[in-house]
Amino acid sequence: MREVIAIANQKGGVGKTTTAVNLAASLAKEDRRVLLIDADPQANATTSLGFSRNEYEFNIFHVMIGAKKLSQIILKSEVENLYLAPSNIGLVGIEKEYYKKGEKRELMLKEALKETEEEYDYVIIDSPPTLGPMTINALSAAHSVIIPIQCEFFALEGLAQLLNTIRLIRKTINPSLKIKGFLPTMFSRQNNLSKQVLADLTHHFNDQLFKDKETQAYIVIPRNVKLAESPSFGKPVIEYDKNSTSSLAYQTLAKIILDSAYG
Ligand code: ATP
Ligand code: MG
Repeated sequence: MREVIAIANQKGGVGKTTTAVNLAASLAKEDRRVLLIDADPQANATTSLGFSRNEYEFNIFHVMIGAKKLSQIILKSEVENLYLAPSNIGLVGIEKEYYKKGEKRELMLKEALKETEEEYDYVIIDSPPTLGPMTINALSAAHSVIIPIQCEFFALEGLAQLLNTIRLIRKTINPSLKIKGFLPTMFSRQNNLSKQVLADLTHHFNDQLFKDKETQAYIVIPRNVKLAESPSFGKPVIEYDKNSTSSLAYQTLAKIILDSAYG
C-alpha cells in the first residue's frame, strides 16, 4: 500500500464525499489500484458509485467491530481499478462499540487495513461530518489528510477544532500524519466571496494549498453542475463528463498526488 489518505472536515456539505469519490476514480484512471472506504453512515460515497445502501448484508461497520475482514466486504466498482468498502446507516452503531471498547479503539480501521496492504496503491477514506469515532479512526490509519474547504461564508469556521484534533492524533497515535493539503471546493470565479475565501486560505495556509506544478496556480475545485449530477447516475464525474471543469480539476489533483511521493 503506497498511501492512505483521509478526506476530512467535520463541517457538513463541504465536498468531502465528492472529493473522495472523484480523487479515487481519477487515481484509478491513472492505473493505480484504489480502495475507497466509505466511513460515513450516510453512505454517500457508496451510492455515488452506483451501489445501493441496503443491498449488502455486511459493510464497514462489521469490519470495524471485527465480525468481517475488509476483503470480505469489498465491492468492485464499474471503474477499472476502483474498489469500494461500502457503508450504510448501521454504521451509527460504531459510537456505542467505540466507547465500550476502550483500548486500541482508535486503531480498529488501521488494523483492518493491514490485511489488504499489498493490494492497493491508494486507500482513500471518506469521513463523516463529525470528529467522532470514524474520523478519529480515519486520521489514525492515514498517512495524510486532505481538508476540503467550501468557498462560502463561514468556510474557516471550525477549522481550528479540526487542526487541534489532528495535532492531538499526531501527539498520541499517529505521529507521522501529514496534512496533504487544503482543497478549496465549489469555487466560483464570478463570486467575490469565493475569491475572499481563497485569499484567506492562501494567507493562512499558503504552503499547504495544492499547486499546479507548471503554472503554480492554486488548485481549486470549481462549482460545476456536472459534479453535482454525476452521483445520481452512480458515476464519478470522470465517467460522466470527462472534460468538465470539475473533472479536469480532480484529474490534476490526482496527478499532483501521484507526483508527491509520500514518506
Ligand atoms: P457531508 O458532510 O454531509 O458528508 P460532504 O462534505 O461529503 O457532505 P458532498 O456530499 O461532497 O459534501 O457535497 C455536498 C453537496 O454539494 C452535494 O450535493 C454535492 O453534489 C455538491 N457539490 C460538491 N462539490 C461541488 C462542486 N464543486 N460543484 C457543485 N456541486 C458540488
Ligand atoms: Mg460526505
